[in-house]
Amino acid sequence: METKGTNAGRIAHLFSELGGTVADGFPAIHAPVYRTGAGTYYLKSPGVVMLARPRTNVAGLEGFLEGFDPSLGFPGYVDDPTELPDSSQLCKTAGQLCYASFGPRRTTNENAAAYFERLTSAGHGSVLEHASFSFLLYGISRSVTHELVRHRAGAGFSQVSQRYVSGAVLRFVERPEYGEDEELHRLFEERADRAAAEYAAMADRLLEHQEGGAAMLSADYKTDARKKVQQTARSLLPNETEAPMVFTGNVRALRHITEMRADAHAESEIRALALRLFLCLHEADPILFGDYELSTLPDGTYTVKTEHRKA
Ligand SMILES: Cc1cc2nc3c(=O)[nH]c(=O)nc-3n(C[C@H](O)[C@H](O)[C@H](O)COP(=O)(O)OP(=O)(O)OC[C@H]3O[C@@H](n4cnc5c(N)ncnc54)[C@H](O)[C@@H]3O)c2cc1C
Repeated sequence: METKGTNAGRIAHLFSELGGTVADGFPAIHAPVYRTGAGTYYLKSPGVVMLARPRTNVAGLEGFLEGFDPSLGFPGYVDDPTELPDSSQLCKTAGQLCYASFGPRRTTNENAAAYFERLTSAGHGSVLEHASFSFLLYGISRSVTHELVRHRAGAGFSQVSQRYVSGAVLRFVERPEYGEDEELHRLFEERADRAAAEYAAMADRLLEHQEGGAAMLSADYKTDARKKVQQTARSLLPNETEAPMVFTGNVRALRHITEMRADAHAESEIRALALRLFLCLHEADPILFGDYELSTLPDGTYTVKTEHRKA
């Protein structure tokens, strides 16, 4: 059985092996962009960039803690010598407020991992809802985003609008299975070129109709012509079309999504996304995400799991 240290080391190693970087405390795993011979853009893996993470003002508690009987020793709470990631600190402070655990007998930051283990093993995950992380996700197909947006509790999504953006930003996502097979790869590139060309041709044709005031679209205002054209032309775009989004989740939701989507039974593209999200989260807060074990599946891909599911 692997030790925790070994597991944390393997997680950090995989983060850098996948191209992970950390700038100013914000982890990211970028994805390379490719082009077909005809110039159509596509990606082969998800790109994940942490855009926002919590910042916690523990010192701000001082004025509150000083208002209690001095024998309780509450003000010492703000002088804990062990610094935690802000997300862990926020959730720990929220949890400790529940029992007014601010005195010297409280669980100190040094033992934060054990504190969260007690919470997650008991299913008391509500304090994890205080910390949220936001991400830019790209290199993900419309089929993956359709699965991701099924997670409603504690999650927020802003996805590229195929009604508003033009064919100029069209990109596609190649599944790993296609990349491993020359013929499937060739067919994918042909399909992406064809979809891009058909989209452009249909958009041109619809624009002519719109500008000519044809019955099909004439009820709409001419100033909205492009939008009306694109909302019609998008109908031919395949599930392989890239659908970037900004995604926010609180830690309770992010843990649940990791458990559902980085699981061995999850669809492989969303598992690749969930794995990268997890790697960035573990990099940002190895305490709140420290109970997950990374393992390799027979096909060489990865899965992560915890004993404390659905905290
Ligand atoms: C391997 C796999 C296969 C799947 N196959 C299919 C499929 O074939 N067809 C399909 O339609 N979907 C499928 N799904 C999607 C799945 O059914 C869920 O919709 C999705 O995983 C979101 O998870 P969640 O329901 O836990 O919701 P989340 O929004 O992530 O909610 C988290 C938790 O909050 C609670 N909660 C959230 N909303 C409510 C609510 N309205 N009422 C009560 N409690 C709530 C629940 O306890 C829930 O588990 C699949 C998912 C996976 C992982």
